[in-house]
Amino acid sequence: MQKQRAIIVGGSIGGLFAANLLARLGWAVDVYERVADDLAGRGAGIGTHDELFAVLRELGIAMDDSIGMRVDERVCLDERGAVVQRLAWPHVMSHWVRIYRPLRERLEPGSYHAGGGFVDFSDDDGEIVAHFDDGSSARCDLLIGADGLRSTVRSCLFPDVQPAYAGYVGWRGIVAESAFPAALREALGNHYYFALPPGEMMVCYPVPGRAWNYVWYRPVPGDPELADLAAEASGPHVRPELAARLKSIARSTLAPLLAEVVERTQPFFQAIYDVEAPRIAAGRVVLLGDAAYVARPHVGMGVTKAALDAACLARSLGGSRDVDTALARYARLRGEFGRGCVRRGRRLGAYIEARARPHFAWPPEALDQSAERLLREIGAPLAAIPELGAEL
Ligand SMILES: Cc1cc2nc3c(=O)[nH]c(=O)nc-3n(C[C@H](O)[C@H](O)[C@H](O)COP(=O)(O)OP(=O)(O)OC[C@H]3O[C@@H](n4cnc5c(N)ncnc54)[C@H](O)[C@@H]3O)c2cc1C
Repeated sequence: MQKQRAIIVGGSIGGLFAANLLARLGWAVDVYERVADDLAGRGAGIGTHDELFAVLRELGIAMDDSIGMRVDERVCLDERGAVVQRLAWPHVMSHWVRIYRPLRERLEPGSYHAGGGFVDFSDDDGEIVAHFDDGSSARCDLLIGADGLRSTVRSCLFPDVQPAYAGYVGWRGIVAESAFPAALREALGNHYYFALPPGEMMVCYPVPGRAWNYVWYRPVPGDPELADLAAEASGPHVRPELAARLKSIARSTLAPLLAEVVERTQPFFQAIYDVEAPRIAAGRVVLLGDAAYVARPHVGMGVTKAALDAACLARSLGGSRDVDTALARYARLRGEFGRGCVRRGRRLGAYIEARARPHFAWPPEALDQSAERLLREIGAPLAAIPELGAEL
């Protein structure tokens, strides 16, 4: 019997999980990734979940110590460096590339088409025809949009759905621990740090390869301001004057320990968005990962969500007699989960958004910036969020 064929648009984390899991089910898979170079250079520190490790194990990817760095507790520091709050938090922080690399290496040679930009699809008597920017096309039984925040597959299905800017950006930086003086290394230990200047949030934690990574959420009120900020950026990092300004703000608003980390980085920023697709399955086309739903990073689950979307899709296809029933099951389960993540991200980021948009009528609970709550809820384990549901 001829194998069922899937085309996966997007060769990042979500696309690679889907490709590996569907190949294991016996599907013929082809991944088309717009970026011609290896993606290994992108990404930074990520939080992990037991459920992410379970999917990796299902694919035979060994969980040795290189997958992450163990942190022991969360510590919130005020601007003088005094401890505001502590919370025991045994957790593994990983790096994007530690997940990406083994998934990429497991694919059948020839099934990953780098430099293949998807533009559109058509339906040819029940068969999907995917069209690419070099004029080529390919046929499949199932088209999977794993093409991220600005998904072209989603735009083909729902042209009016656009990412909604949250009113703030995440400043990021990563620096090798070897760049630190011994005293700073020792003082940092292996904690997961928080700083909570009014209407802001900074998290800073170690990642594999003995490096430190931070994300510092700061309001940037509207699109014009964001455009100005983007215009100041040159390449992956921002202009030296802008980096110097951020470092100066760090010195006056963050604990000296955390300001010292920021000082040694070349900062860059990512605007924070919410995305909700109205549906994630339409005919023989499905969306997964960030193409389906983007929750603000406070949920700390983008990579795990992409892995679980792919696992649910594979389980649904493997357990159903026909593809349409499988896709309906996938859309129901992962739709509920994705919408729940977006809601949670909005709630956790509301007090930062409120500083950028003070004219909105924010209920008092949305403005709660208490360290006790945030240390518990940011990047919480799935078991602590029963409302998201766990069925795959
Ligand atoms: C500040 C910040 C902090 C974060 N922290 C965490 C964290 O701690 N933990 C966590 O789990 N997640 C985190 N995330 C989220 C995480 O990075 C994403 O959720 C995750 O990468 C989603 O994977 P994806 O494969 O769905 O999409 P992406 O990684 O965005 O990949 C989409 C791919 O599709 C390709 N593509 C796009 N269009 C086309 C096209 N037309 N044709 C072909 N290819 C195309 C792109 O080149 C890209 O490679 C964070 C995100 C941000 C912004």
